[in-house]
Amino acid sequence: MRNQILAANWKMYLTQPQVDEWLSNFQSHDLPNTNSQLRIYPSALFIKDVLKIGLHVGAQNIASQTEGAFTGELSIGQLKSVGAKSVLLGHSERRQLCKESDDDIIQKIVACVNEDFPFIFCCGETLSCRKQNAQNDFILGQLTSNLNGLSSKDLHLLVVAYEPIWAIGTEESASIEQIGQMHNIIRSYLIDRFGSVANQVPILYGGSVNQSNAKDIFRCENVDGALVGGASLDPVIFYELWKALNT
Ligand code: PEP
Repeated sequence: MRNQILAANWKMYLTQPQVDEWLSNFQSHDLPNTNSQLRIYPSALFIKDVLKIGLHVGAQNIASQTEGAFTGELSIGQLKSVGAKSVLLGHSERRQLCKESDDDIIQKIVACVNEDFPFIFCCGETLSCRKQNAQNDFILGQLTSNLNGLSSKDLHLLVVAYEPIWAIGTEESASIEQIGQMHNIIRSYLIDRFGSVANQVPILYGGSVNQSNAKDIFRCENVDGALVGGASLDPVIFYELWKALNT
């Protein structure tokens, strides 16, 4: 059985008092041992705070270099040394706003492979791509080029997040049909390329997941959880999503 994952991407939100409040609120809920994993991707400043409540904590970005004169960057070694367990790569905000290229993402994936550091690889099409009905080829192209440095022995490091850009932060999630179709396409692609071991790779959906749509999304075949932005900033809602994943 595949791992299920509910991951929070806090982006550049929350200050220290807000993080403290989030954690104390979240901790007050009952979190039974289940087959699913909770992950938080906070601003790197708060990695140690989140670790204190025993959750899987990851980084929102890494440098592809191991160390050196790279002002403002964070290496995998530094992140590991404070207890971070994984990283988000290929998020559309980094692609679009920080101008990260496919090549940058490939280098970062190679760094993860070299240092045995798990990552969530994000892929997703724009609205204009979807309107031209070109989304399938686009996602297959992103998977083919960006996962170029991976082989089947590295698949234990990989989680894929399908995040249509037009659904991120818009309160307009993709439809259940659109999500189901794309997740099946991604699963088939991974199996064709890497073999049956790719059945173990979790595929998450991301894009305006909230407490009203989560249950239906989690029921889709090949949806193994979610990467959640806005709705993860409220610990009560995030806990509701966690319950939806586990019912
Ligand atoms: C995201 O940024 O990864 C995301 C899915 O955001 P939101 O849930 O706010 O759409």
